[in-house]
Amino acid sequence: MTVISPATATAAVTPSAEADVCTPLPVLGRDVRVPLVTGGEVTYAALDYAASAPALQRVWDDVAAYAPYYGSVHRGAGYLSQLSTDLFEQSRATVAEFLGCRPDDEVIFTRSTTDSLNLLASVLPAGTQVYVFDTEHHASLLPWQRAEGAQVTWLAAPRTPEQAVAALDVALHGAPKGPKLVCVTGASNVTGEVWPVRKLAAAAHRHGARIVLDAAQLAPHHPVDIAALDVDWVAFSGHKLYAPFGAGVLAGRPDWLREAEPYLAGGGATRKVARRADGTLDVEWHTSVAARHEAGSPNVIGAYAIAAACRALTEAGFDRLVARERQLLGRLREGLAGIPEVRVLSLFGEHSERVGVLSFVVQGWNSSHFAAALSAEYGIGVRDGLFCAHPLVRTLLDAEPDEPGACGAPDAAPGERALNAIRVSFGAGTPDEHITRFLAAVTTLVRTGAQWTYRTENGRCVPAR
Ligand code: PLP
Repeated sequence: MTVISPATATAAVTPSAEADVCTPLPVLGRDVRVPLVTGGEVTYAALDYAASAPALQRVWDDVAAYAPYYGSVHRGAGYLSQLSTDLFEQSRATVAEFLGCRPDDEVIFTRSTTDSLNLLASVLPAGTQVYVFDTEHHASLLPWQRAEGAQVTWLAAPRTPEQAVAALDVALHGAPKGPKLVCVTGASNVTGEVWPVRKLAAAAHRHGARIVLDAAQLAPHHPVDIAALDVDWVAFSGHKLYAPFGAGVLAGRPDWLREAEPYLAGGGATRKVARRADGTLDVEWHTSVAARHEAGSPNVIGAYAIAAACRALTEAGFDRLVARERQLLGRLREGLAGIPEVRVLSLFGEHSERVGVLSFVVQGWNSSHFAAALSAEYGIGVRDGLFCAHPLVRTLLDAEPDEPGACGAPDAAPGERALNAIRVSFGAGTPDEHITRFLAAVTTLVRTGAQWTYRTENGRCVPAR
């Protein structure tokens, strides 16, 4: 086991206890150079962490140290299979600790947040009433209506955290008897605004409902403590938590998961399969929650990478990372506030708590055009569009529901409403210089326009050659 000890693999990149609070964590790709359409090249500024964050160097090193020892999980007699099985189960324990799980909580490795929430939707008891704000990412908005027998109530966008709690309270007060589930995001993938999770959980529990936290955007930016928040489940994705190896997590209460049919039918989820005399199959499913819902060969590298990220963030001092991110966010917001043509999108208002995710529109610009110019002329990677949260972005832009969010739409004339937005997002690996460069680029684009011409190709704005 010594060969894959995180300490031996990554001592060189692990920050010491005395490390400067403002030192970004080393990530892969930090020195990558990209060409500019205007000539020359620059170091790439990755400011799209909310989509997928770069891998922490520490995660990469841990995975590389383990890779030669990779083997099958839960199904091999050989040494490497046993070692991989041990590491897979240790990874589960590391994630449980990272999330502050209660003793009876279960951690299930999935493919992503989307997969985790679809898994939870598949185990809802018959007749579950589901409550979800229409401001959610599609991954937490959509799985419930496909759940058999579930009734979904979509709550309208609240304009303050207090309104969110009050709206949920009212909805649950009038709810019919029976199982109830509330699904809420921890931090918006559009505005970065933090939702009042603890208060929503208290409201849910007051009315006998359960609550699942979509922590896809919260977990990379802020410690998530399932017991302290008193939520029933938490879902997040490895690729947003600096561990891009195709795994995600659903953690929380075991009972609904234990009582439901397995999410996937197949090897690993069964205890016994036998032919009956009448030719049908007699299947005995695992009662162990993780085995029951992790059919097929598990993604051990993905799980191990997530555990490595949990260790890295914890050892770096999550509070210090939060403090540093706040500083960067403060600089970013201050800089954008100084450009009158920029409108930052917000549901909860200027003083709401936020993580390092921010969306905006620029007067007179199509957002896709603006994002394309940031990339092609400045080597800055952001995202444009509706961010898989169409109802929320349309609410924030005050756009009609049936208007297309076409990336290649023409530039909006001054005074016209934008149809989509630009999102800038960052995290533990972002150097100050990326925020400085971003603000300078936005200012120049707004003041002097794009230097290049752009055209629409397959719905996206790209530089015309
Ligand atoms: N929830 C939120 C808030 C997100 O931002 C995302 C992805 O952007 C998801 C869920 C879905 O995550 P994944 O694509 O990893 O399943």
